[in-house]
Amino acid sequence: MTSPIHCGRFAPSPTGPLHAGSLLAAFASWLFVRQRGGRWLVRVEDVDPPRTVPGAAESQLQVLERFGLHSDAPVLWQSQRQAAYQQALDLLLADGLAFVCHCSRSDLAGSGGIHRHCVARQPRPDPAIRLRVAPGSRVDFIDALRGPQHQDVHAQVGDFVLRRADGCWAYQLAVVVDDAAQGITEVVRGADLLDSSARQILLQRALRLPTPAYAHLPLLLDAGGHKLSKSAAALPVDEGDPTAMLKQAWQWLGQAPGALDAATSQAELLQRAADSFQPHRVPAHDISIA
Ligand code: GLU
Repeated sequence: MTSPIHCGRFAPSPTGPLHAGSLLAAFASWLFVRQRGGRWLVRVEDVDPPRTVPGAAESQLQVLERFGLHSDAPVLWQSQRQAAYQQALDLLLADGLAFVCHCSRSDLAGSGGIHRHCVARQPRPDPAIRLRVAPGSRVDFIDALRGPQHQDVHAQVGDFVLRRADGCWAYQLAVVVDDAAQGITEVVRGADLLDSSARQILLQRALRLPTPAYAHLPLLLDAGGHKLSKSAAALPVDEGDPTAMLKQAWQWLGQAPGALDAATSQAELLQRAADSFQPHRVPAHDISIA
């Protein structure tokens, strides 16, 4: 796969229908690259079978089409990417950067859930594989919306899982391997994933992969201050009126009021949005939509 100058992506997990917060992430990630003439890709993160809802991915893809947000390459399905994840894991194991871990939840409880080395009293038939996070593994990066960020991954996270005890690939490994394979240069997603970025950067370094730019979007909150996807208000987006929903998302993103008013079709609305999008106007704080 080629790596153009700017390439963004939207990577939903098929755990249910797209809600307003996920549509906001889809539209914003599209705007960030389109305003600079870049490519935008869609990836289905169906790497976690226990959480995957049958039919959800297809319905999410249908909604994106209805909103005029078309992937510039065939959709990548993580369930088809086992070989790539295995290859990355083998590399880390060969380099001594990953290790087989027999710890159970109760083994970990003693260290406050932070894994520093395998303390299992007995081997288990289904061990996990973790990244070895050395002391001093501090990651600094600039988030395009939230400014300088840092995390001491050793102190705050510990050795994190790459392949789970149930055999599923961990989100952190799959996302890093696929962002690189798809040539992603900027990751634009909800602020609930800000905390994962340092782990992903550490993993990119271990695998000698490039680090994309990051921008973490405000979350939509319901009346009780809960993240939309976690609340009862996470209603599926209204497919009946994509134009109204896109205008609403435009407003949530703090963009110039009226910039889209003259559009007479959805295609024109998207074009105008791409032409007039100003990243610096995106609020850094979460948005209450109650
Ligand atoms: N699949 C993740 C989600 O739906 C997003 C992953 C990402 O954007 O890095 O929350």
